[in-house]
Amino acid sequence: MPTAMTHAAVGAGFGQFLPRDFPVGRLSLYLALVSALPDLDVLAFRFGIPYAAPFGHRGFTHSLLFALILATATALALFASRRDAGRACLGLGFITFFAVASHGFLDAATDAGLGVGFFIPFDNHRYFLPFRPIETSAVNPAVFLAHPSRAWAILSNEFRWVWIPLLLFTGIFQGLSFGLRKLRNRC
Ligand SMILES: [Zn+2]
Repeated sequence: MPTAMTHAAVGAGFGQFLPRDFPVGRLSLYLALVSALPDLDVLAFRFGIPYAAPFGHRGFTHSLLFALILATATALALFASRRDAGRACLGLGFITFFAVASHGFLDAATDAGLGVGFFIPFDNHRYFLPFRPIETSAVNPAVFLAHPSRAWAILSNEFRWVWIPLLLFTGIFQGLSFGLRKLRNRC
């Protein structure tokens, strides 16, 4: 898996697609948290659940169904009481789904471990993407920090393959949005 920090950064990046009348700062923090959440399945090791099992690491919590359930539940919980609840829930639900699902796609682009169970419980097969440039990080933060040179290599790799593309995309998207708003204000 990439580091939790990288999963969270990609999730927070989806916050820029939220409508401007949403509390974007707070919701980006929420998106960062939910996109790192699927790795809580490492607790399965403590309960003796094998890696390759449907509820093992990179199993159900990395599936598209889990992203859909989490997105629906949290969008309803956060916005059901608003007057424009339908629109707000739908908007946040969509963004949350893509933020949580991004976790599985990042894992599927790593160079080790088992693949991702995108379609559990309908199909228990684990999948990788055809292009896997991201180096796999240790699950345990203590192990990650115990090997500084390896940790540095992983962070540099994530910076190159995830952070730079994310920053470039954000810059272009924000620039275009700003330009369009200026244009609209003039008309
Ligand atoms: Zn993961």
